[in-house]
Amino acid sequence: MKKLYGLLGERLGHSLSPQIHSILFDTLDIEAYYHLFEVRKENLRDALYGLKALGVRGINVTIPYKVEVMKYLDDISEEVRKIDAVNTIHFINGKAIGYNTDYYGFGTLLDNYNVNIKNRKAIVLGTGGAAKSVVQYLNDNGAKEIILVSRDEFNKKEWLRNFKVISYDKICELQEELDIIINCTPCGMYPNIIDSPVCKQDISKFKIAIDLIYNPEQTVFLNYAKQLGIKAINGRYMLIGQAIKAQEIWNSVKIKSQTIKYINNRLISK
Ligand code: NAP
Repeated sequence: MKKLYGLLGERLGHSLSPQIHSILFDTLDIEAYYHLFEVRKENLRDALYGLKALGVRGINVTIPYKVEVMKYLDDISEEVRKIDAVNTIHFINGKAIGYNTDYYGFGTLLDNYNVNIKNRKAIVLGTGGAAKSVVQYLNDNGAKEIILVSRDEFNKKEWLRNFKVISYDKICELQEELDIIINCTPCGMYPNIIDSPVCKQDISKFKIAIDLIYNPEQTVFLNYAKQLGIKAINGRYMLIGQAIKAQEIWNSVKIKSQTIKYINNRLISK
């Protein structure tokens, strides 16, 4: 019988995950199917217990449930302890174990574009779940300074306590030399593709611009960076990287590093 995996979220219509995991199942020679589980908030608990009871092997979790699912888990991994958000669950031996593979996916993206963050100064736009994974990765890997940008500079989220948080209108006032700007907001994502979280002038201060958004492939934010001659990177390798890490967890395997490019090419050709 085919093994069952899937993605749990509220609205999943445009997800690329089934395509990516289907390529990974072929690569790993696993007979499996990846299903989109659209679940309403009031049914989240029942859905999770149901998936476990039905023998589903593993799921990814997306907006808006990455934090909410944590109370239904039996255990969490080391990175989840730091990030407090789960995007991958492994159902094993009657237990549900939570992981955060966005953290590793972001690392995969940096590695594949040869972006070294050690001693670099980064600005992170947004203070949601993805921003938290990105900031943790930057912190764990030697970034020199991390500044968060929020629509509310007095943002009271507990994890922001140790960081400098500024509002968007203060970016242009930053005097120091800056390296990387990372968009961790949904601003510019399909269908709102004409939006950008910052103006072109703000991006001109940086050497590298990263947008976690992968749909569209080139957001207005990345377009500005390109026009300015700045290295512009979208979130596609992060998406593929987090999926690869999830498969490694679910199937106790190590997937070759070149698989990321193979998947990326297959996605382009569709
Ligand atoms: P989230 O938890 O909803 O957080 C997004 C944050 O962005 C919010 O906390 C908010 O921060 C800010 N924000 C929200 N709406 C905004 C708007 N209209 N204008 C400006 N700022 C806004 O979402 P998330 O899970 O962190 O995801 C954020 C983005 O990353 C999404 O586009 C998602 O698709 C993408 N993502 C990509 C990958 C990948 O694999 N490539 C993985 C995870 C997420 P403030 O209130 O502080 O302003």
